[in-house]
Amino acid sequence: MSDSRKIAIDVRGAVKRYGDFTALNTVSLSIYDNEFFTLLGPSGCGKTTLLRMIAGFEEVTEGAIFLFGDEIADLPPNKRPVNTVFQNYALFPQMTVLDNVAFGLEMRGQSRPESRRAAGEMLELVQLSDFASRRPAQLSGGQQQRVALARALAPKPKVLLLDEPLSALDLKLRKAMQMELKHLQRETGITFIFVTHDQEEALTMSDRIAVMSAGALQQLGAARDIYERPHNMFVADFIGETNLLEVTVREVRDGRAICSLGGGHILSGKSDQEVRIGARVHISVRPERLFMSDAPTDAEGLRGRVRENIFAGTDITTLVDLDEGPNLVVRTSNSDRGNKRIFEPGSAVYVNMEQEAARLLMD
Ligand code: ATP
Repeated sequence: MSDSRKIAIDVRGAVKRYGDFTALNTVSLSIYDNEFFTLLGPSGCGKTTLLRMIAGFEEVTEGAIFLFGDEIADLPPNKRPVNTVFQNYALFPQMTVLDNVAFGLEMRGQSRPESRRAAGEMLELVQLSDFASRRPAQLSGGQQQRVALARALAPKPKVLLLDEPLSALDLKLRKAMQMELKHLQRETGITFIFVTHDQEEALTMSDRIAVMSAGALQQLGAARDIYERPHNMFVADFIGETNLLEVTVREVRDGRAICSLGGGHILSGKSDQEVRIGARVHISVRPERLFMSDAPTDAEGLRGRVRENIFAGTDITTLVDLDEGPNLVVRTSNSDRGNKRIFEPGSAVYVNMEQEAARLLMD
């Protein structure tokens, strides 16, 4: 994604304090127009706070937020070209589905017939035309969520804010809605800012993800980038599953740190940051980037013994107790079974790393 793209939202050094408590600590990030952007992080990390500041429900303590180039501090929520979909849908129970969607348009001064016509179009977009005259209580959770979406999209906002909109749905419906949301974003071209604590949801749906923790931005990038090149321990651990090995840096050669683990094993890893010789750091390697062999290979093998194999449909997870160091998790997908071996519990094995699989993390 090039920087020549139009920026929809520019957050510059945003701080939010509630009394002595800093909920958001100097966050800066840019969100492109027409982007599916996700704020991801554990509960309490400040994602909703940032979303509410963009919507105008919270004041910015320090710093500024720009919307399509304009500072918005003095713009009340209803004057911002932004709309929000809330987790609990917030539909009016006494109104029909059509009226729920039309309501916001009438509030914005559109005539009743025009509002209802536009609402009808939105219901078509979310495939609920047949339900226009029902009331929310007569709909399933997923259908109610689609009404909330249609209602938020009806005024044609430039930016749609979605605060954990799928969390009340069961897993199957949530997966289906993830696809629908992604499709809806592409179809409408509206910038979506999606808040979730579910890393899998974020990886599936987003063009880019901002990973947050404790009020601070940890990493910003495309899903794949964040998964494959985490900048720090928090990101490596929070996104997907990883193996962390504590090592000492012995040497730096061609951008790779050569490190020792325990008594003598040598491992190397790439890092984005400068590495100090003698530093204690971590090597992170994803379970699916490890493979086992019964003899040493070229690929930095660690000796250990298979403790357990866990079968889970599409893959097998193997737990290996290393002779020196922690336990490792090795994942072998069924599609890899042709060239990756599975060993019985009790087998002595070498656990090897695929090329470029090891990342060096400083904190
Ligand atoms: P969740 O996923 O649980 O919604 P979140 O990442 O969205 O979490 P926020 O709702 O942004 O987190 O809250 C960030 C921090 O700010 C939390 O520690 C929260 O307790 C605190 N906080 C939020 N609103 C207020 C408030 N009005 N007064 C004081 N503290 C608040």
